[in-house]
Amino acid sequence: MKTIVRLASLFLGCSMFFSGCATSRPPAAPEISAAPAAPAAPAAPAAPKMQTPMGLIEATAQLAEAHDTRLSVNYIWATLKDRQQDADIKTAFERALAEDTRESKLALVRALELKFIHDPKISGLDILGPELSHHFRDFKWQEDDFPGGPQGPNEQFADVMVDTLDLVRAERRANSSRDAVVLRAEATDAVWNYMTNRWIAVPGQERWKLNRIALDSFVRMREQAKREGVDLIILSSHRYPQTAQKNAARANNPNAVASFSSHSLGLAIDFKMSHGDDLKLNETATRPMSEVVRMRESPTHKWLLLRGEEFGWYPYQNEPWHWEYNPPGFREIFWAEFPGGAPQREIIIDEP
Ligand SMILES: [Zn+2]
Repeated sequence: MKTIVRLASLFLGCSMFFSGCATSRPPAAPEISAAPAAPAAPAAPAAPKMQTPMGLIEATAQLAEAHDTRLSVNYIWATLKDRQQDADIKTAFERALAEDTRESKLALVRALELKFIHDPKISGLDILGPELSHHFRDFKWQEDDFPGGPQGPNEQFADVMVDTLDLVRAERRANSSRDAVVLRAEATDAVWNYMTNRWIAVPGQERWKLNRIALDSFVRMREQAKREGVDLIILSSHRYPQTAQKNAARANNPNAVASFSSHSLGLAIDFKMSHGDDLKLNETATRPMSEVVRMRESPTHKWLLLRGEEFGWYPYQNEPWHWEYNPPGFREIFWAEFPGGAPQREIIIDEP
């Protein structure tokens, strides 16, 4: 419901914002909306003849269409055509060409993903394809364009950006919407006790706690990211209800600091976006907006964007640093030991 309604406004918004733009127009709506919905074509039986390099590029691009990766088809084509520039891509390509197996093609996709993650010129916005990415990355963002807080002139365009991202890598908010694990109205004193009693300190970052199931997943995810050259460092996670209320009262942006957030559920992490000596960022800052957009170049953000879902972690589009644990089916598991289980819910109509 929400997606459809906002999708309509998205393209209204696009045409409105892009009408004065001298560069090419954004792609027509069906092109984008078709991408996530298109069902995978059944795999054809392996042909006995030798695979050609062009055939392999096409087959790899088809893996993106089948959702084996979040990389855009454009990125796959451009990078594989340029494969001589990158030793790892070249090796993986030649192996896939020789072996012609699904496994070797997936290994090639992984090599492409690693390049995407570690290339400083690439932004997470590039999963949208080159045209849309260009519109958002090169837009002249004003200081206060982050939605909420002091009014910026382009907040609506920021909404368009996050709605577009949501089509490719959807949110599953743990504290709101129909995917919620716990809604504000369900958080009685007994529920608060139940939730906070299930928090465990994060090994290696003991100052922070997570719901024990989210923690188990986080630890496995952190190990995988580490193997791929990315350190997942927590800047903030659990937030006791009293602290959350105090923070919200003090902050001037209710969108960024909520009194009932997924942090209060022990299901959210704010990650450090700066990376090594190369990328220094003003962490968890909502202004200037250009900095928030630049954060999407962080290898940490890009890793989570491509790989987080395998571990149950989902984005909050407004904030590149904020990720939530809420895989499908988690609500029942979360409530399993609470007397009576998960609370009964009315049908939820998502807020616009
Ligand atoms: Zn957060």
